[in-house]
Amino acid sequence: MGERAMEALIERWVRPEIRALSAYHVPDAEGLIKLDAMENPYTWPAELRDQWMQRLQAVDVNRYPHPQAPDLCAALRKAMDIPDAAGLILGNGSDELIQMIAMTLGGPGRVLLSVDPGFVMYRMIATFLGMEYVGVPLRKRDFSLDPALLLAAIREHEPAVIFLAYPNNPTGNLFSEAELLQVVEAAPGLVVIDEAYAPFTDASFLPLLGRYENLLVMRTVSKMGLAGLRLGLLVGPAAWIGEIDKTRLPYNINILTQVSAAFALEHKALFDRQTRAIREQRQVLFAALQQIEGVEPYPSEANFILVRLADGQAPVVHAGLRERGVLVKNLHGAHPLLDSCLRITVGTPRENTAFLAELKAIL
Ligand SMILES: *Cc1c(COP(=O)(O)O)cnc(C)c1O
Repeated sequence: MGERAMEALIERWVRPEIRALSAYHVPDAEGLIKLDAMENPYTWPAELRDQWMQRLQAVDVNRYPHPQAPDLCAALRKAMDIPDAAGLILGNGSDELIQMIAMTLGGPGRVLLSVDPGFVMYRMIATFLGMEYVGVPLRKRDFSLDPALLLAAIREHEPAVIFLAYPNNPTGNLFSEAELLQVVEAAPGLVVIDEAYAPFTDASFLPLLGRYENLLVMRTVSKMGLAGLRLGLLVGPAAWIGEIDKTRLPYNINILTQVSAAFALEHKALFDRQTRAIREQRQVLFAALQQIEGVEPYPSEANFILVRLADGQAPVVHAGLRERGVLVKNLHGAHPLLDSCLRITVGTPRENTAFLAELKAIL
């Protein structure tokens, strides 16, 4: 087996747009305070873990899971106040739902449109599936939508689907509801409002479902504290959900996830307490960051805070924090509007205090 021959084979057969990508990189966080991935920092009490294990003991893993996971769907409808009339499908994380939507609508010449800086998986999945990605820049000052620019891009590109994260990642802000509705009305295709950070804001488009034939809402249980289970949900008009469901691989939600997520939702009060604590800590962390010279935090409705440092500082501070045992996300270089920016996930009070102390020491 020759190396040259291997390279030639890859060059001949791997699609050029895939060869041009670098694989999604997840840094090793062993032993570090992990404030890089928007995880809920709180674990479960021992008693709850025991009850969970008992529930799992009854599972027969020799059988395929239920293909539609009706028990879990019912639990999600109740927990998230999903309108009865709306259709619902589940994904192996909302990442898989983005992929299913792109498979349903994709093809040569089909455009997936979003805003930049935004969630990177929209662009990546568009590329995987041979769709053209169009990213409309946000306003520099506060990362708000530029409606004129966005509406012009919609007219020009006629996107098959528009994804908008609400609140947005990595900037943390909510877009104007009125402007988003203008987008829904102007869009020739689907508009998916990605509410991954719903546990940390009071705003939602769920109550508006049913008023527009092209509006879908996507949620996930990842950010509320179940990131390890990989479970996302897509809600919208039943006719659309039925079409997208055709691209779903059978049994995409494994039995351990079905049982564990349904169990967790029986204890939703615990997760509500945890996410409320994170919201409170977000305010504490924001106020503390505002007090540090050379640090500009942006207001957030999510479980993270974007900060801008002085020119050239972000990579240095990111590496310094890592050396001192704190992992945050360096966004410098990800997009011109994110120059010198870091994204900090809100942790426990103790983790946030440790982060602030190390940040001050470095600066
Ligand atoms: C984290 C995140 C997701 C991914 O959620 P999973 O359900 O874990 O795949 C989707 N959209 C946005 C905007 C996110 O930040």
